[in-house]
Parts: sequence; C-alpha cells; structure tokens
Amino acid sequence: MKNVFIDLEKCIGCRHCEVACAIEHSSGKELFSMYFEVPRPQPRISVKLGVDLMTFPNKCQHCDPAPCMEVCPVNAIFRDVKTDTVQVQEERCISCGMCAMVCPYGAIQYQVRPNLPNEVAYKCDSCISRLENGKEPACVEACVTNALVFGEYNEIIAEKQRGISLNLTREIQGYKEEEMPENIKAFRALQRKVAQLGPLPSSQNKINVNEKIKGASKRWISH
Ligand code: SF4
Ligand code: SF4
Repeated sequence: MKNVFIDLEKCIGCRHCEVACAIEHSSGKELFSMYFEVPRPQPRISVKLGVDLMTFPNKCQHCDPAPCMEVCPVNAIFRDVKTDTVQVQEERCISCGMCAMVCPYGAIQYQVRPNLPNEVAYKCDSCISRLENGKEPACVEACVTNALVFGEYNEIIAEKQRGISLNLTREIQGYKEEEMPENIKAFRALQRKVAQLGPLPSSQNKINVNEKIKGASKRWISH
C-alpha cells in the first residue's frame, strides 16, 4: 500500500503542507481565491508541536482495517480499492461523531458544506484525484525538506536503512554527516538551544502528570 510517510527529523514546522492541502481542496485550486471561498477550505493535515519544539505533521493514515470505517453507522466511510485509501462520502454523513471518537490520530474534523443540512466529516483523502492522474499528494509535493514522502512502506524503510548505513559508514570514516541540508541543521541546532532553556509550560504539565502516574502505580504495587 502506498501512503504518505513522515520523517520527523526533517520537519521544520513551516506549514507549507497545510497551505498546499487547503489549496488542493478549494474550488479554484488557487491561494488568493481560496480565502474568499465559503466555507473556507481547511487543511486535512495539521502540523503539531511536540517535545523539545519538534514539529510533526499529523494526518489520516488510511488504516487497514480502519476503525472509522467500521463504526460508521451509515457506511459513509469506505475504502477506495483502486487507490487503497479511506474516503468519506460526505452526502451520507449524519454527523454523529463516531468516526472522530475512534480515530487514533484525531484526523477527522467537521465542516458545513453547501447544500448539506449538517456539518459533515472530512479528513485527508490522499488527494485521490491527483493519485488517479499519477501525481503525488499535494502536501508531499509542497514539503520543502522532504519530511513527507509518498511511497510503498517497504521501499521507504529500505531507503531509510540505506541512509542510516551510509551515515554510520561516514561517521566511522571520520566524515561529517552530509545528508541533512545546512538550513535544517542550523534550525535543529537552534531548536536544541531553545529546548535547553527549559520545558514549555505544557511539557511541565505532562511531566507532573507522569510523576503523578508513577507515584500512583508505586502505591498500587506496594498494596
Ligand atoms: S480517519 Fe483515523 S481511523 Fe480512519 S483511516 Fe484515517 S487514521 Fe485511520
Ligand atoms: S460522523 Fe459521519 S462519517 Fe463519521 S461515523 Fe458518523 S455518519 Fe459516519
């Protein structure tokens, strides 16, 4: 199965993927006119901030089996056999929210559509019209650092393993790591420096919660 894979090391949080996604799902497929469309097209990929200011693009993973598809009571979610992607048939959606509740990636959102009475579920459709024309999804094409890659799982893993072996060999031979472009290396160095200043308030909360969980489990074990 072909899918969009994410290389977290390379994401710099520029959000080009989000903009490209929104444009691709607009009527005019053009940035300027998109801002005047009602409702305004929304991206189906969202760049989130993780630990130590690392950013990651989150989207539907077109799971197989797909929990969202299994729980939909009106069969509004289906697998497109040709592209092996999970799609939403918006006209059937009754906005019950079941799919959003079971999606492990939080990839389903809701929006009103012209001529439909309720908000309906929408998510990454893997740019199905582009796939049918032999193109990559718009987010992949827009990603300036190749943090998003479209391809077969095994091929991408094999490519990654080749890269790791190459870097290890270079390190053993005393060369500097050359795979990462200079601008990304500089950005990563800046991120590390900022991260050394201390955890963000939200990370601090997570640490406190983890400490509480650890404390609770110790108490539970000792009883
Ligand atoms: S919407 Fe969520 S559950 Fe459904 S296929 Fe995508 S990632 Fe999987
Ligand atoms: S919100 Fe729509 S797509 Fe999701 S489970 Fe309900 S009917 Fe199906």
